[in-house]
Amino acid sequence: MIKLSQPNIPEEALGAVVEVIRSGQLVHGEQCVHLERELSRYLGCNECLLVSSGTAALHIALLALNIGKGDAVIVPDFTFPATANVVALVGATPIIVDVDSTSYNIDPDRLAEVVQNWKGPEKLRAIMPVHEFGNPAGMGQILELASRHELHVIEDAACALGAQVSANSVGTLGDLGCFSFHPRKTLTTGEGGAIATNSVELAKRIRLLRNHGMERAGSEIKFHTPGLNYRLTDFQACLARYQLPKLDEWIALRRELAKTYSDKLKPLEQLGLLRLPQIAEGHSWQTYMVVLDKRFSRTEIIDCMRTLGIEVGMGAQSLSCIGLYSNAHNQRLCYPNGKELSLSGLALPFFEKISKKDVDAVCGALSDVLYKLS
Ligand SMILES: *Cc1c(COP(=O)(O)O)cnc(C)c1O
Repeated sequence: MIKLSQPNIPEEALGAVVEVIRSGQLVHGEQCVHLERELSRYLGCNECLLVSSGTAALHIALLALNIGKGDAVIVPDFTFPATANVVALVGATPIIVDVDSTSYNIDPDRLAEVVQNWKGPEKLRAIMPVHEFGNPAGMGQILELASRHELHVIEDAACALGAQVSANSVGTLGDLGCFSFHPRKTLTTGEGGAIATNSVELAKRIRLLRNHGMERAGSEIKFHTPGLNYRLTDFQACLARYQLPKLDEWIALRRELAKTYSDKLKPLEQLGLLRLPQIAEGHSWQTYMVVLDKRFSRTEIIDCMRTLGIEVGMGAQSLSCIGLYSNAHNQRLCYPNGKELSLSGLALPFFEKISKKDVDAVCGALSDVLYKLS
């Protein structure tokens, strides 16, 4: 079976993780301290706080900015639902904006329309752009709009570690940037995440919130705020420290792989059988997703590919279509672009170690299946 995705854990990491476990220092050890420093340096930001998942990062970001009841936060329609779930869970209202069907990211014109015409009753507090599949969202326009309307920007960079806008890392451009180390992401600790920020004040709040609101001063313990336990373990941090030095090399391989797929699948696009993803500058390619022509049933194609030994799958969800988030602001049942991407998006096997032979097999099988069903 050619898998959709495969974690790339360096062999050397395994022994090192065992050492950390043998040491008995499973949490609150040096590994997390080192990784936070190494990630800050890699990203080029002042502070990077480790947490237990990408969802924890998003949740704590909202809490750190005191976003809650009576507030509203803008999210793109096409994403993993965690982006909107955390907004709802802090008591705020997610405001869904449709995405662009080429970049798969929030549509900057629709976003501007929503912000400029905002009438409440909630107080619009933040924009939460997603860098979908590693493709940087239009941060120039987003930051400009946010600053003009005094909104916070929380980047959902969960699947975009290493993606760049000009020479800047995504996740460091807004107030807070959230990353995930889930096994489907390019760098993984099993579960895990991080929050990047240049604000000393926010970093301080996040440190408290992820650790029971607790601060140790010598032998004294103070509880400053109601907090959570969203810490990462030291053996997980150790796992990440062996991957981070290789990340840029991996992303380079992923960029090549995306080009190879697009070259090989070009004829299918010319025949109108599918659309290829945008090959954008700075893209870190966590996922390579094509969009099938609407004549096809994706389920049927996934099944056909599976019988040929190839695992393919859907890309992400449309928040407006899953039905959880219809409210006074999100009355349209389904946004057209998000809906199309969520129904017809097809993610292809994509990881650094995939062989040329397997890439050929995927492209060959996909052509055969699409010809047969068209
Ligand atoms: C993966 C992902 C998340 C969730 O991250 P977890 O670590 O699985 O909690 C949130 N948003 C986006 C865009 C993601 O890709």
